[in-house]
Amino acid sequence: MVELPLGQEPVASSLPRKLCVVVSRGAEGQRGRGERTYTISPLLPCSPAPLLPCSLAYLHVAILGWYTTRTRKIVHVDMDAFYASVEQRDNPSYRGKPLVVGGSPNQRGVVAAASYEARKFGIHSAMPSVTAIAKCPALIFVRPRFDVYRDISTSIHAIFKRYSDLVEGVALDEAYLDVTENKQSIPYASTIARHIKTAIFQETQLTATAGVSINKFLAKMASGQNKPNALTVILPEQAIAFVEQLAIEKFHGIGEVTAAKMHSLGIHSGADLKGRSLTELTHHFGKAGNYYYKIARAEDDRPVEANRVRKSIGAETSFAQGLSDISQMLQELDQIAQIVEQRLEQHETRGRTLTLKVKFSNYQRLTRSKTMLAPISELSTIFEIANTLFESIDLENRTIRLLGISLSNLDNAKQLQAIQLPLFQNGNIIF
Ligand SMILES: [Mg+2]
Repeated sequence: MVELPLGQEPVASSLPRKLCVVVSRGAEGQRGRGERTYTISPLLPCSPAPLLPCSLAYLHVAILGWYTTRTRKIVHVDMDAFYASVEQRDNPSYRGKPLVVGGSPNQRGVVAAASYEARKFGIHSAMPSVTAIAKCPALIFVRPRFDVYRDISTSIHAIFKRYSDLVEGVALDEAYLDVTENKQSIPYASTIARHIKTAIFQETQLTATAGVSINKFLAKMASGQNKPNALTVILPEQAIAFVEQLAIEKFHGIGEVTAAKMHSLGIHSGADLKGRSLTELTHHFGKAGNYYYKIARAEDDRPVEANRVRKSIGAETSFAQGLSDISQMLQELDQIAQIVEQRLEQHETRGRTLTLKVKFSNYQRLTRSKTMLAPISELSTIFEIANTLFESIDLENRTIRLLGISLSNLDNAKQLQAIQLPLFQNGNIIF
């Protein structure tokens, strides 16, 4: 891991791992007859043996290029305490103070974002506002202004688009960019990340943190290393060692409950995880076992998906201790509904199908869905439907370890519009 020293550009190396060679019979200009492609890996040393089947007299060898398996350069950009920073930017009296954006504690609200000053009190997003104010009585509560956040997000995406069209928005304040091929032919991904951070600050007066590496997992981990206003690079040759020393609860994609289960299996670090077979991991974690197996080896071949249309939006909470009290379950459900409402608003969308997910302590998993005629997005409706579905589940003497609500059949007019815009409009994308 490299914390970017000033004035220095660490390289996200692009050494090829494979070389493609096309062999065809015939002189130059007569290619195409009996053409065969060989992939030689690793690149060096490579033997000419595969070329021998063709008569040397007719041999025409074309090196197609390095592009096939070139190491990718991925940048993960994450705005620092985004909603809270916007509120502090727009209201100087909020600056330097503990502040949260979210629902009021009097209305059983949930924290959507906390300023760095509030985080010092242990306040974080998705925390009930009542808990937050108990931790810091001087806490300032601000109602979210999603229209403002969306506008800023649009400007930030316009900045990304100056460098690459392969931009995947994860949330209003977070995106992955694949800059392997970039519009400005800048050789170093870290240079691009630095330019982006500078442009974001100049154009929005907000700071962002960036992570640079060879895949999405590592870029995300890199940006999480130092915050706020940082730039961290994990070089290809550092990737394995970085993952090995990482505590298991720090892995992106491993939540609190999974981490606890890994601990119980004796897995505490990336190195421990790497020591487990794929069979063992899938046995304990199902499909996710595949992902864990790969990230333990610093591998993640998920592409950066530009124009990804979301199919569902939801939220869920795991309970390490398990819940058996129904009124407590309903309280949690209410809070999950609030997070879902906020996320729908972030993405300016609504959904027609609500799905309630429940996992019991014995790992039995259950879902109940209801589809409405008209799309919904209001908290009261989300909670009401989730509650009705919840009541239909037999909970007698059962302990719950996860509750989740998601909305699908989304009203994606805005998202589709966002995808079509770039065809007509220069780099002005929303998601
Ligand atoms: Mg952020």
